[in-house]
Amino acid sequence: MTATRPQPRPGVLDIAAYVPGKSSAPGVAKIFKLSSNETPLGPSPRVVAAYKSAADSLEDYPDGSASELREAIGRVFGLDPDRIVCGAGSDDLLHLLAYAYLTDGDEAIHTTHGFLIYPIVTLGTGARPIAVPETDYTANVDAILKAVTKKTKVVFLANPNNPTGTCLSFDEVKRLHRGLPPDVLLVLDAAYAEYVKRNDYESGIELVATSDNVVMCRTFSKIHGLANLRLGWMFAPAHIVDAVNRIRGPFNVSGAAIAAGIAAIEDVEHQERSRQHNTRWLAWLTQEIGKLGLKVTPSVANFVLIHFPETKGRTAKDADAFLTARGLILRYVAAYKLPNALRLSIGTEEANRLVVAALKDFLAKPA
Ligand SMILES: *Cc1c(COP(=O)(O)O)cnc(C)c1O
Repeated sequence: MTATRPQPRPGVLDIAAYVPGKSSAPGVAKIFKLSSNETPLGPSPRVVAAYKSAADSLEDYPDGSASELREAIGRVFGLDPDRIVCGAGSDDLLHLLAYAYLTDGDEAIHTTHGFLIYPIVTLGTGARPIAVPETDYTANVDAILKAVTKKTKVVFLANPNNPTGTCLSFDEVKRLHRGLPPDVLLVLDAAYAEYVKRNDYESGIELVATSDNVVMCRTFSKIHGLANLRLGWMFAPAHIVDAVNRIRGPFNVSGAAIAAGIAAIEDVEHQERSRQHNTRWLAWLTQEIGKLGLKVTPSVANFVLIHFPETKGRTAKDADAFLTARGLILRYVAAYKLPNALRLSIGTEEANRLVVAALKDFLAKPA
């Protein structure tokens, strides 16, 4: 039968559109948004100045290859700028990688509680997202390798993962890579790499540099405090850079984002301040929330996953409503197959203390 109106390709209407974290609490004067893993410190003042100076040339197209930004990233990380591609957020790059490497009938693997963008970009290409079970809210290398079939073309791994906050050691990532056929692309999404304090962790740079089928994605949205600007980058083998450059928007990154990104990546002190704030309050929140009797998944990132009982009046949904009424906005993560948990981004000292006090009151009130 002939369709009576344009039809999206198969898969598109199977996508459950991404729902961002809440950002308001009706009727509450002061709110603390702890639902999107944004930094409580904001961007560096130097970044804001660089962004403002971009206002002087809004009529000009940006440098379509973002060369100065790629060179700045290259200097900071010791990478060849020709092996870097910038995007409008790392979401942009994840979409581009999916469109370049997936088609109808292919399969792309992600983990059960993996970042939601992976099944979204996969379905958009007509390929099938395969969710692989985790162990203790952590990616399981053996389970991933077992799920690989002849149809597998991409494996997406957030390391550390959002919303669980767990990560795989470099040895485990290498073992995963060794077990994959050479034509399967391993996408290492290291959006939270800057926060990780574990000696056995590596963001993926070494693996990209020494293989032909690994890409690492990074973002300016988290530690750099530029979520609103939309900026990310990836480090990849030359042949993948070539493929992605053919399909990306020729001006996918704005001049303001390029200017801000250069200032951000060079302001090492600001990053260090953010890291120290995070390390201190991540440990404090994990401990204090644990003391209240709630399970907290040990996190290496800038957020924690808090597990709630299924008891009526004490559920994650109940807690979400209770906290929201106090202006504390966390992320309800049922869409990540975690209906009994809330994700809390590390906030300012004030916000962190208010969350613990509110959780204490929530657990003390009659259920
Ligand atoms: C926040 C986040 C990103 C960043 O996305 P942007 O598009 O760069 O803002 C990427 N991956 C994961 C797992 C994230 O949590």
